Amino acid sequence: HNLTTFKDLGLASSILDALLAEGYETPTPIQVETIPVTMSGRDVLGIAQTGTGKTAAFVLPQLNAMANGRKGAPARSATVLILAPTRELAAQIAEAIETYGRALKPSVVTVIGGVKAGPQARAMARGADFLVATPGRLLDHMQTGAVTLSGVKTMVLDEADQMLDLGFMPALRKILEKLPAQRQMLLFSATMPKLIRKLASEFLRNPAEISVAP
Ligand code: AMP
Repeated sequence: HNLTTFKDLGLASSILDALLAEGYETPTPIQVETIPVTMSGRDVLGIAQTGTGKTAAFVLPQLNAMANGRKGAPARSATVLILAPTRELAAQIAEAIETYGRALKPSVVTVIGGVKAGPQARAMARGADFLVATPGRLLDHMQTGAVTLSGVKTMVLDEADQMLDLGFMPALRKILEKLPAQRQMLLFSATMPKLIRKLASEFLRNPAEISVAP
């Protein structure tokens, strides 16, 4: 039985308050496993589906780093880059960051296709704590120079198998190749097809493998 509390995980009090306000009583299994490992700075390969609480599992340690004074990003870059396969998922992740981080007021920029690029570029001009993006539009902004990955400390790849299915692999590789050599990377996927395994072995360093049942 899981008796670990959010407090046991070492999260800052402002984050604990937000979780309490959301009515979260105990961390889910993926949160219990992922949060401490991520806080230690290690890369993570997570096999988990939607509904397991994986969003909070990767968002909370990033907010905690911010609460502990992690420096903001330079102009046109982001401290945390989160890639999602769909606009809907990107919007959900951005909303979760705002919810759990309400006391910290992180700057969150969402960069997705199907809407104007200009406002996204302007929003990135000062740099952001979190950039949540779909691969195609992010690559467009990198190519015009509106976004640079030089300031990224942590990169999260969410629903990697969906990205593969949607044909994002070429864009994804171009993005990953531009990450700073010194960075933390977390990769989540519901399934682990060969191409995702290969991507993980190329871009993650000695990751902790975490797998939870749906
Ligand atoms: P996700 O798997 O990230 O899509 O999260 C699934 C749902 O679980 C979301 O609606 C979250 O708000 C909710 N959730 C995440 N973590 C917890 C928790 N520890 N306790 C209760 N609900 C949670």
